Order: sequence, then structure tokens, then C-alpha cells
Amino acid sequence: MAGGGGEDDEDDEKEELRRRVAALDAELGRTRALVETIFARIPAVFYVKDLDSRYQYGSPWGFRTFGIDPAQAIGRTDAELFPPALAERFAASDRRVLEGREMASVSYALPAQSGVLHFAGVRFPIPGPDGEPVGICGFAVDVTERIELANELERLATTDALTGLANRRRFDERFSAEIARAARSGEPLTLVLCDVDQFKRYNDRYGHPRGDACLVEVARALDGIVRRPADLAARYGGEEFALVFPDTAEEGATKLVERLRASVRALGLEHEGNDGHGVVTLSAGVATVVGAWTVEEVIDLADRALYAAKEAGRDRHVAVSEAKPPASSSRVR
Ligand code: GH3
Ligand code: MG
Ligand code: MG
Repeated sequence: MAGGGGEDDEDDEKEELRRRVAALDAELGRTRALVETIFARIPAVFYVKDLDSRYQYGSPWGFRTFGIDPAQAIGRTDAELFPPALAERFAASDRRVLEGREMASVSYALPAQSGVLHFAGVRFPIPGPDGEPVGICGFAVDVTERIELANELERLATTDALTGLANRRRFDERFSAEIARAARSGEPLTLVLCDVDQFKRYNDRYGHPRGDACLVEVARALDGIVRRPADLAARYGGEEFALVFPDTAEEGATKLVERLRASVRALGLEHEGNDGHGVVTLSAGVATVVGAWTVEEVIDLADRALYAAKEAGRDRHVAVSEAKPPASSSRVR
């Protein structure tokens, strides 16, 4: 009888264990279903990978965004699923997170089926029972719209609405960066300030709307002579424009300025009040500097050269080159 009672106890224990396992199984199933429901609906990248970069879980949206069938992805590695360059980037960022042993913010732009997508999120190592990482978890959301909006705002904030050239703000940023670069490199930097001749009379004679149209055409001519990526054409203000030519000495810059002035003249925009020139013309002050200068100093040099061009009869340029240190030298022609 005693042995029989022991068997009953064992059966009870087994039955209890089976019930607990079944309950845990059901709980696990519910949790898995919940996770899958959430990640099937939200447009987010969520994944769990083992240390060999094999996907143990990945959100369907994340895979589909990159043209991968989610059902095929589990158990596969980045190298098997993504183009080599992309797989290498994922692997590198996984390595960084594993080495750092902590959560890292990530933001990246990736080529996807619908174009370039921007993501922002976090990655972190999944700690095992002894604290050592056993895998990696990543979560990221699509911030493409936000990035594109920010880029568009940045573009609007740095573009002149009338002419489409860089505006004064963009000029200020770029020019001060180039001043600093030139001071370090010892290469010459040229700033050109251009001003439409007798433009007040142009407005008075032809009206403000035609004045605006004239500025648009002059701006197009400026844009046309800017070829190198580092060169900048900007609307400095009103009927004044600025050209920044990094790594450019006086001779090269004045050739460009004369080409610009010829192309503005060639527009053939009638301008009766322009002291016998008959068409719209530009005057320019060209300042080339070598060494450590301030923004204000170089603008002042170019401005004074421009004033000299106006004084000398307009429709011309005046160039000035200065170097410092060691000895500062100056010549105006
Ligand atoms: P100078 O040859 O000495 O440069 O003479 P100027 O008449 O061109 O110079 P001034 O500075 O006396 O006049 C500039 C004129 O440019 C006055 C202003 O109304 C006009 N202007 C400035 N910005 C704009 C603009 O956006 N549109 C139009 N239509 N005119 C503008
Ligand atoms: Mg002016
Ligand atoms: Mg003017």
C-alpha cells in the first residue's frame, strides 16, 4: 500500500509539472503572438540575432523594406540576406555594440526598395546568465520623412528665394570655414564681391519687377561660372553677389570674374541709365589672401576693391592680393 501511495504522489507531481509546462507554453505562445502582432503592424526594424549574426527573430516590416521574405530570413546571416557592402556595415556595427557591451544609439541611411531610407534606433547586447553577451538586439524606426523635412528646411534657410543662389547665411558659414581652412593650408583664397552698376536707375526706369528679373539673370550667369564643388556663388544682399574661390590665386580668379562680366554684358539687358554702357554691367572687387585672416578683414579688402572699381568708372574689376604672415605685402591694380 505504501509503495502505491508513492506512485500516486509521483503521478501527481508529473501531472503538476505537465500543467506548469503547458501553462508556460501557452504564456510563451501568447507573448510571441503579441510581439508578432505588434511588429507586424508598426513600421519598425526589430530583430534578435545570435553571436554568429543569425536572425532568431526579425520584424516582417524590417525584412520586407529590404525586399526579403521574412519567412526565409530566420536562421540566416546578414551576409546571406543583404548585399556585401550592407552586410559588412551591419556586422561592423554589431561588433562595435558587442565590444562596448552597452546600448548604442544608431542612425543610418540605407538603400531600400523605395529609395534611400533613414533609420534611427538603438542596439544592445543581450546578456546571457553569466552576463556575457549571447546575442544582439536592434530596434530602429524609419525617420526618412523627418530627415527629408530637415534637409528641405536647411535648404530653404540657406537659399535666396529670388535667385536660387546660396543666401547670405550660407555665404557666412561657408566663407568662415574657407577662411579657417586657408589659414591652415597656406593656400590662397579669393573672395569676389560683385555689384550691379547703377541698379537704382534700372529700377527707376524699368520698374521693380524687371529689376528682380534682371537679378535672376545675373545670378544665373554667376552660377554658370562656378564649376568646382568647393566654389560658391551667393547673393550677398540686394544687387550684390559674392563668389568664393578656395585654393585660387588672383590670376585664376580674375579670369573667372572677367568671364562672368562678359557673360552678364552678353545678356544684353537694356539699361539706359548705365552711364553710356547701354546694357546691364557688373563691377567687382577681387581680394586674394594667403595666411591667417579674419572674415571681416577679407570682406573689407574686397569691398574696398569694389569701391575702387566703381570710382574708376564701373564695368570693371579691381584686384588686391595680400599675404600674412610673415611680412604683409599689398598691391592694388
Ligand atoms: P552703383 O553702380 O554705385 O552700385 O549704383 P546702384 O544704383 O546700383 O547702387 P545703390 O546702392 O544706390 O542702389 C542699389 C539698388 O538696388 C537700390 C535697390 O532698390 C536695388 N535693389 C536691391 N535689392 C533689390 C531687389 O531684390 N530687387 C530689385 N528690383 N531691386 C533691388
Ligand atoms: Mg550695391
Ligand atoms: Mg549697385
